[in-house]
Amino acid sequence: MQNEPIKETLGFQAEVKQLLNLMIHSLYSNKEIFLRELVSNASDATDKLRFEALTDSALFEEDSDLKIRIIFDRQAKTVTISDNGIGMSRQEVIDNIGTIAKSGTREFFGRLTGDQAKDAHLIGQFGVGFYSSFIVAEKVVLVTRRAGLTPEHGVRWESSGEGDYTLETVEKASRGTEITLHLREGEEDFLDGWRIKSIIRKYSDHIPLPIVMVEEGKEEVVNQASALWARPKSEISQEQYDEFYRHVAHDSDAPLAHVHAKVEGKQEYTQLLYLPSRAPFDLFDRESRHGIKLYVRRVFIMDDAEQLMPQYLRFVKGVVDSNDLPLNVSREILQESKTIEAIRSGCVKKVLSMIEDLDADKYRTFWKEFGRVLKEGVGEDYANREKIAKLLRFSSTHSDAQDESVSLSDYVSRMKEGQEKIYFVTAETFAAAKHSPHLEIFRKKGIEVLLLSDRVDEWLVSNLHEFEGKPLQSVAKGDLDLGKLEDEAERKEQEKEGDEYRELVEKIKTVLAEQVKDVRVTFRLTESPACLVADQYDMGMNLERLLKSAGQKVPASKPILEINPHHPIVQSLKYEEERFSDWSHILFDQALLSEGGQLEDPAGFVKRLNGLMLALSGK
Ligand code: ADP
Repeated sequence: MQNEPIKETLGFQAEVKQLLNLMIHSLYSNKEIFLRELVSNASDATDKLRFEALTDSALFEEDSDLKIRIIFDRQAKTVTISDNGIGMSRQEVIDNIGTIAKSGTREFFGRLTGDQAKDAHLIGQFGVGFYSSFIVAEKVVLVTRRAGLTPEHGVRWESSGEGDYTLETVEKASRGTEITLHLREGEEDFLDGWRIKSIIRKYSDHIPLPIVMVEEGKEEVVNQASALWARPKSEISQEQYDEFYRHVAHDSDAPLAHVHAKVEGKQEYTQLLYLPSRAPFDLFDRESRHGIKLYVRRVFIMDDAEQLMPQYLRFVKGVVDSNDLPLNVSREILQESKTIEAIRSGCVKKVLSMIEDLDADKYRTFWKEFGRVLKEGVGEDYANREKIAKLLRFSSTHSDAQDESVSLSDYVSRMKEGQEKIYFVTAETFAAAKHSPHLEIFRKKGIEVLLLSDRVDEWLVSNLHEFEGKPLQSVAKGDLDLGKLEDEAERKEQEKEGDEYRELVEKIKTVLAEQVKDVRVTFRLTESPACLVADQYDMGMNLERLLKSAGQKVPASKPILEINPHHPIVQSLKYEEERFSDWSHILFDQALLSEGGQLEDPAGFVKRLNGLMLALSGK
């Protein structure tokens, strides 16, 4: 600290430059949001101070009356927002204000399209916070001092939002941050007390500490200044709920739904939880942050309290305020706390019910954005498995589109008389699932099959064995046993054909001894000559491929080749001698191809195929 330069000029990180450029050049139609962003940061800063002061009350410096002040100066054309929160050290200013540290930054920039309207939306979603000052200001001066540092360690940051900024060490008597905006030409209407008051009421009424506006020497508190979640539901409007969401979630869109409840009894806590209407960029990033803020009796304790929400609900945002936890609770304590366990399980129940209660339109949005994440819950949250299973949606042979609109209850309600199982097929793509030869007999009999093509689906079905007492069954595994769906005549016929083809089956088995575990006659095909199935307790072929492509070692298991006795190729094979081996290999290879597999020897396949084509054309 001793040797820090008094004044220096530093360049913005490239991403910041790009962002500022977009922002200044008219991306924002809604200019007034800069005030919301700065007030929101100031509020977070006082939360952090109050939290650190729990263990070190000297940080208050005899000023524990936390507030935000807004002053404007018509002559100088400035608006100043100041807080007596935690403040920043020189290094913190460089880290926080000169760079964007958020995960997903690169992806965010990759998504920018150059179409202003679309990009503006993306930026809002990314949350630009402090930089929004430059929408209305040609110059921004930030003076700050970290609580706990002495007055000569103040920092003055100044920039016109172009390539660089200056940093200077200055005296600052009071801790906290003061941000002065020098308004651009044409933005003078923000120099109006009435205007500022109405913006604060619109966006920042929920901020739990006083926002004081100073006008002609007179001070006036312009917000309600009480924690929103602690107010009775009946006194909170939809707009206020939505604004609070924007504040906690750093999201410019309105949420899809919220649940607000005070829980009394053994544990006392308040929860205000939201479902976003859109997935964040880093939803699948392992380090992505969770969205629950923990408070204890209105005192902010921590952001990102991952103990309060399981992984598969990591998209939920909001606040939990406990009356029972000690104020000095740490992340380590949280991990073992019974209180937290109880709160978490209460929150999970509430969230699952909130999802269940969404109307059809909102549900579609929810599923599109978060369905893949929710599926993880089936394996993760044993206690709520049934509840989660009810929320799942799939594509199925019931409709043509990949619309993921079929619930397991829908499926069960449409089951055929005598049908005992819920049938599904897994494949790497929707097209491969939809055209899988394994579906042929099901189509013929009009039995619905779920079409699963998400990577996480394999994991899902390996954890979900039944729904409402109906077992889930892969159509590509084991002996096809349609149970009561087959009649006696069909069974007799099959037995007879099985006998007729016994010799052929043995011959093919000898040729393909290396590739297959078994060969048998099948009745699951109506159009294709052959297909592959996995033994009931072997790993499915799709899962095997997924694991292999993820670089995992997979126990070697061979598939079973099933042949269709009604197909002319199979029928003529009975009389084939000269090219019997080629035909057998081709049957195997095409069965593998049609379910999305890769041939071990593609050139061999092509050669055999060409050989047969030539023979057939008589050349
Ligand atoms: P975000 O608020 O989404 O993190 P911002 O660009 O608004 O993004 O702010 C970046 C960081 O700068 C904040 O996370 C915080 O650490 C710091 N910061 C901003 N405003 C203040 C303030 N008034 N007091 C203390 N720190 C602040």
